[in-house]
Amino acid sequence: MELALPEVDDGKCEGCGDCVRLCPGHAVALIAGKAVIVLPENCDYCADCEAFCPSSAIRCPFEIVMGDGAGEDS
Ligand code: SF4
Ligand code: SF4
Repeated sequence: MELALPEVDDGKCEGCGDCVRLCPGHAVALIAGKAVIVLPENCDYCADCEAFCPSSAIRCPFEIVMGDGAGEDS
C-alpha cells in the first residue's frame, strides 16, 4: 500500500531550500523557486520536511494515516 506523499503549498513555499537540503532521500528539489517532490520513490516518509519548513508549506498527510493505526501491517 502506498502512502500519500508530502504536499507542498506553493502559496506558502518561499523557496528557502531547507527541505531540499535536509531530505535524506533527496526526494525534494526546487523548481522555479518552489519545492517539488521530484523523486517520490525516494521519500521514506520521515516527515523532516514538514517538521523543519519555516513556512509550514509542506504537509505530510501520511502522518495522519499512520497515526490512525488502522489497516497498517508494517
Ligand atoms: S522548507 Fe518550506 S519554504 Fe523552504 S523550500 Fe521547502 S517547502 Fe519551501
Ligand atoms: S518526508 Fe522525509 S524523505 Fe519524504 S520528502 Fe520529506 S524529508 Fe524527504
